[in-house]
Amino acid sequence: ASLAALDDTVPAPHRVQDRTRPEPPVPAEDFASTPDTDPAVAVNRAWGREILARVPGSRAGAATVAAARLRTEDELEEVVTAALDAGRGWAGLSGAQRAAVLHRAGDALAARRAELLEVAAAEAGKTLDQSDPEVSEAIDFAHYYAERARELDDVDGARFVPSRLTVVTPPWNFPVAIPAGSALSALAAGSPVVFKPAGPTRRCGAVVAEAIWEALDAAGIDRAVLSLVDLEERALGRQLIAHPAVERVVLTGAYETAELFRSFRPDLPLLAETSGKNALVVTPSADLDLAAKDVAHSAFGHAGQKCSAASLVVLVGSVARSRRFRDQLLDAVTSLTVDRATNPAAQMGPLTEPASGKLLRALTTLEEGQSWLVEPRRLDDEGRLWTPGVRTGVRRGSEFHQVEYFGPVLGVMTAETLEEAVAIQNEVEYGLTAGLHSLDPAEIGYWLEHVEAGNVYVNRGITGAIVRRQPFGGWKKSAVGPGTKAGGPNYLTGLGGWVPAAPRG
Ligand code: GLU
Repeated sequence: ASLAALDDTVPAPHRVQDRTRPEPPVPAEDFASTPDTDPAVAVNRAWGREILARVPGSRAGAATVAAARLRTEDELEEVVTAALDAGRGWAGLSGAQRAAVLHRAGDALAARRAELLEVAAAEAGKTLDQSDPEVSEAIDFAHYYAERARELDDVDGARFVPSRLTVVTPPWNFPVAIPAGSALSALAAGSPVVFKPAGPTRRCGAVVAEAIWEALDAAGIDRAVLSLVDLEERALGRQLIAHPAVERVVLTGAYETAELFRSFRPDLPLLAETSGKNALVVTPSADLDLAAKDVAHSAFGHAGQKCSAASLVVLVGSVARSRRFRDQLLDAVTSLTVDRATNPAAQMGPLTEPASGKLLRALTTLEEGQSWLVEPRRLDDEGRLWTPGVRTGVRRGSEFHQVEYFGPVLGVMTAETLEEAVAIQNEVEYGLTAGLHSLDPAEIGYWLEHVEAGNVYVNRGITGAIVRRQPFGGWKKSAVGPGTKAGGPNYLTGLGGWVPAAPRG
């Protein structure tokens, strides 16, 4: 009763939050970041526990996925033709008309928050503290790209022409935010979308698609503007990527996947965010307590399965020589609660797929000169649930310095100077995220000028980019294509092109 009383007097974004009640629609043209669920509110904790209790038997999205399964080339052709047909009407709408549909899709995603959390836990093993902000990010993408769509109408002397057909192939590690952001950005730009969710998280993709269809239905727009496809055969995937009608492929995944796609079709227009090998540097001027917390969070959130995750921490000068930071890090890492996502207290959940290949090696073997500060342990038979690992003595040029593992293992490196630490950060092929903990303005200035990464963070963790405030995109081998940043002002322009138009008036 006290929550309801407050709701009458306090404007929506500042209300005491009660997730068991429907979210009011977000007013158009008034972008405000979506608040994550507040776990300090008791009803929200009970709401979260109920969601997790449904997880073991969860079938959300299953029927939609079954309906989207394609078996033959003919079926694929039908989908492409329907998307192209529907796309002509869609591209003919103004940006403002498309914006209205996107805002509605944002509201439809918000209405499905519980369902999305359930299926993200069921399929990807995402703990609530990881999946809840991801749903907020998906909603933010909808409202933010809606407003960017409007701006496409407003350029004098040029007309924006969207890709005739966009294929969206998101990863399984952010099974809600990345599919939603990729599909909605292409739709905002005016392009029809064929959306193929990642295999392990196809039901998450289905729930995202259902939200977008709800918005299309409400506006009387053909659902074929967004086609969900689940491909039976690998060969069909190749067929889709190489299809001549496809004018853009939006990929988030490994750099090797981008190369594979290019091998299907060398002239493929790709907009890809790819791999990372990310390091956080800690200098003697840093707030070491904060640094230890941020390193642990950046390395082990979602069990390290993020392109943005910290895989290395580089300790500079006296930080490298003293025991203090190591003890802080040891404490931060060993106090993490590791369990299946169905445990509401879990801070680090399971891997989405059992550890194998290079990740299994990184969890079980050391290179010369290295030792475990925290040795990882496998907690289940399947090989999905591991405790976090921290290795020290990682040398410049070693495998651990260079290779992306995508799992819960962190390497500690040392440097005499900040210059050396930056060299260590830059001596990798990728340039996705990078962090610095330092309270010295001269050090911060030097670092910002020299570090080679698309997303640079000072005195903060290096995961968790935020729509509009901290757009996300890579540099070097962490991006392929126009290099526009997701959740940033120019992203839509990477999904089409400008042609000259007669000036107005
Ligand atoms: N946008 C996410 C972040 O900032 C990373 C996305 C990814 O791992 O692909 O943490």
